[in-house]
Parts: sequence; C-alpha cells; structure tokens
Amino acid sequence: MEDPDCIFCKIAKGQIPSAKVYESNDVLAFLDISPANKGHCLVIPKRHFETLTDMPDIELAALSAAVKKVALSVYTSLKADGFNIFMNNKKAAGQIVPHAHFHIVPRFKDDGISFDWPHRKYGEGELEEYAGKIKVK
Ligand code: 5GP
Ligand code: ZN
Repeated sequence: MEDPDCIFCKIAKGQIPSAKVYESNDVLAFLDISPANKGHCLVIPKRHFETLTDMPDIELAALSAAVKKVALSVYTSLKADGFNIFMNNKKAAGQIVPHAHFHIVPRFKDDGISFDWPHRKYGEGELEEYAGKIKVK
C-alpha cells in the first residue's frame, strides 16, 4: 500500500518534516506549505490511497471525523468568518499529490479567494438523463 516515493507517505512517517496540527493512529493533519490563506490545512490518511473512492469506509470515516475536528479548530482559533473543505481527485480535477487529502481553508470576509466555476444549463431531458446515469445502484 505504501508508496516509497509518495511525499505524503514520507510526511506521515515523519521522514519529511511538517507543521502538524492533529494526529491519530490513522490520520495526520498539517499545514499546507503553499496556503490559499495562512492556516490552510491538509488532512491525510496515514496509509496510502490515491483518491477518496480507493479508501475503505472505516478509514474514510476516521478521516472525515478528523476533518471535522481540524475544521472547527481552524475556524475558531483563527477567528475565521468561514472555511472551505475540498478534495481534488485525479489529475483532471487538480490533484497534484496522488495521496488522498482534504484541504481546509480558513476564509475571511473579502479575502479575495474565489472558487468559481461556470454555471452551465441542462438541455431538454438532460437533467433526468444525468440523474439516471449517476443513480447509485
Ligand atoms: P492537490 O493539488 O494535490 O490537491 O494539493 C496538494 C497540496 O499539497 C498543495 O496545496 C501543495 O501546496 C501541498 N504540498 C505539496 N508538497 C508539500 C509538502 O512537502 N509539504 C506540505 N506541507 N504541503 C505540500
Ligand atoms: Zn502516499
């Protein structure tokens, strides 16, 4: 499972230093080295998985619980006005480090950050078509 070349595996094992903010048996959270805002955290499983869907539910549950704890601490300790949580899965979605991680970004009124995307429109019948395709079996 571990990838000896993976930078986040090395961080999880303490082979590369990181500014840790939370640690449990399965999870580590540390400051992103190149933050969107100061206090931007990354929360990772210690075991190597590439994406969210590669993770067993039990490990994802532990990761999610840690994301909540860290988000609350980011929000309260930095007196933020809000926070974003996001995750890039696969290169096409902007994932640069192929070890699953959630981003937590503290947000402040008028901080100038924008996570903007186009607001496209569905054509006739497409809404139903997409819902039918995606419907979880
Ligand atoms: P991704 O685009 O894969 O979702 O985000 C990867 C994040 O990891 C980036 O925001 C980047 O700044 C951060 N990062 C990359 N290498 C390191 C590192 O060695 N240490 C820390 N703390 N963060 C890193
Ligand atoms: Zn890894």
